[in-house]
Amino acid sequence: MPPLTATTDVAIVGAGLAGAACARRLHELGLGVLIVDKGRRPGGRLATRVESHGTYDHGCQHFTASSEAFRERIDQLVDTGSAAVLTTPTYALHAGDRRPVTASVPRYVGVPGNSAVVEAELHGLHDSGNVSVHCGVRVNQCRRSEGRWHLDTGDGHDLPAARALVVTVPAPQLPPLIGATHPIARRAATIRTSACWTLLMALDQRLDLPFDLAFIDGSALTWAAREPSRPGRSGKERWTLHATAEWSEEHLEGDPQDVSRMLLAAFSRDVARLPGSPAALVAHRWRHAFVENPLTDGAFLDDERHLAACGDWCLLGNVEGAWRSGRLAAEKVAALLARD
Ligand SMILES: Cc1cc2nc3c(=O)[nH]c(=O)nc-3n(C[C@H](O)[C@H](O)[C@H](O)COP(=O)(O)OP(=O)(O)OC[C@H]3O[C@@H](n4cnc5c(N)ncnc54)[C@H](O)[C@@H]3O)c2cc1C
Repeated sequence: MPPLTATTDVAIVGAGLAGAACARRLHELGLGVLIVDKGRRPGGRLATRVESHGTYDHGCQHFTASSEAFRERIDQLVDTGSAAVLTTPTYALHAGDRRPVTASVPRYVGVPGNSAVVEAELHGLHDSGNVSVHCGVRVNQCRRSEGRWHLDTGDGHDLPAARALVVTVPAPQLPPLIGATHPIARRAATIRTSACWTLLMALDQRLDLPFDLAFIDGSALTWAAREPSRPGRSGKERWTLHATAEWSEEHLEGDPQDVSRMLLAAFSRDVARLPGSPAALVAHRWRHAFVENPLTDGAFLDDERHLAACGDWCLLGNVEGAWRSGRLAAEKVAALLARD
């Protein structure tokens, strides 16, 4: 981490893909950036969780690229080994019926884990001395005084003030940061999100199945992925299982142990019988996994207060939308600061 200066050009809250893409674009445009995330590492929902027995992509599973700009960026990441096309055998499972499915467009993953895509956006930026990334820092509130933005963390982190602020947190988490009456917060408040309970499961022996990924219908589970089969991964038999949005909402406040037990039973019933007890089980709750009604604005800017917001809720509601939204916010902010 480079030494902090008293002020920087832009402070970004959130080091998911939108925040990282925004930081990269601001850096390309010659601006100084401070990026802060409450998580231990950058990634957000494009996440890779490290457990003692191996890693899991427990958030987003894979993503697609429809725009030329995003395709070009992903092609670069594939060339440099930070992403790969997912070719893993995939089945659709329904009430005992199992059928192979073929993807109609390329699906991508990060390598060696999905968070590598976010890390690639931030790669090399710290070394420039113009960008600092602070993880494990939760912002409670963003305040503007004397023409500068200040991030209140409540735990004594001494962060520089910034000329402009970009907030990239999921829509429901935005209003408390900038005030619920701000017009951007009001737009964020129109966004509906859905939850996803995720079960991470390690086994002592490999399951004998014709598929490594499965879409599941008619079950509490909607998705199962064998982790070591994904590009660049290896090691112990590990599965990431996602519950449906309906099941997750219904059990949102459930005890993680009860959730584990119920999703394990669903796996045994609807995906594959287990040869014995799992070696490890971890339940993870994504409270705001999916955006149900993404906007088409791309990114928001309040010129007067030098405040921008971006993220998947502003465009498409997916990985590509987050990346494009982050870049767009950076361009809007850079144009604004150039006029100051
Ligand atoms: C289970 C699951 C499955 C998914 N499947 C797919 C899929 O198949 N395809 C697809 O394209 N997309 C999928 N997605 C969605 C995709 O992951 C998101 O669209 C994308 O990662 C959003 O990026 P973002 O930067 O907008 O938000 P996020 O990744 O949520 O980043 C926001 C960041 O803000 C940080 N933050 C929040 N509040 C604070 C605070 N107060 N202080 C400091 N930091 C804060 C968070 O820690 C986080 O890192 C899935 C998501 C989940 C959870």
